[in-house]
Amino acid sequence: MSVDPLAEKYPSHSPYNYTLNNPVKYIDPDGRSVDDVIITGNKKQKAFEELQAAVKGELSLSMDGNGKVTATKLTEKALSKGGEFLYLAITDSSVIVNIFASDNDFISDKSAPLLGNFMGNIVTPLGTFGEKRGGATFTYQEINPVALSKFDKINKLPGKTTLHEVVESYIGGSLSQSLNMSAGKATPADAKNENSIYSKSHRVIPQSGVLKEHFYNLSGTEIFRGNNNFNPVKLKYSTGNHRIFHTIPKEK
Ligand SMILES: [Zn+2]
Repeated sequence: MSVDPLAEKYPSHSPYNYTLNNPVKYIDPDGRSVDDVIITGNKKQKAFEELQAAVKGELSLSMDGNGKVTATKLTEKALSKGGEFLYLAITDSSVIVNIFASDNDFISDKSAPLLGNFMGNIVTPLGTFGEKRGGATFTYQEINPVALSKFDKINKLPGKTTLHEVVESYIGGSLSQSLNMSAGKATPADAKNENSIYSKSHRVIPQSGVLKEHFYNLSGTEIFRGNNNFNPVKLKYSTGNHRIFHTIPKEK
């Protein structure tokens, strides 16, 4: 993939604006709390339900009209790794995680099929929101929670992959913030490079199972099975004994 749209829109900020060893916490201009995971899109309720299923018995989640998620711990015991990272994502006021949840076939810039897509983040320098404000990182992830739910159901781990996506976005934002450098949308090169921000974030909480992509030609014959390719003619996703759980474009 050539120039990343996020990188083009938001050139990297001068390192002189920021003190690396002294991360500045975002201060909301209105004084409201901004320790946020925010879910938007026509499937935001589904995404919320998937997240709640993934941390059942550990966290009680709620979501307000703006899609802002809050969490209460339900146990004194140590949380699972996934529960702990979700709690952190929700309560860390320096990283604002934006989840766009829909059942669209493609991601918003139409460059790839939508399933769970790391769209990068923007690290803002001190001063963005006024002289002593700023320093927050805004992350972006696009998911289809309907498809992910089917994937997780086959693998008998409800909500696990939606949780994976939210944690991936959060970890990516945290890593980018520590480097004071925004990250772009994940590219095939990022996926191959195990030291990329995307790969490091992708590994933290695994998906519920192995994902396979099946590519079809116009006459409906499967022409390729694998990953990291894109053929817009027809694409199916399978997991666990090649059980198909999602088809693009949507079957009528
Ligand atoms: Zn991932």
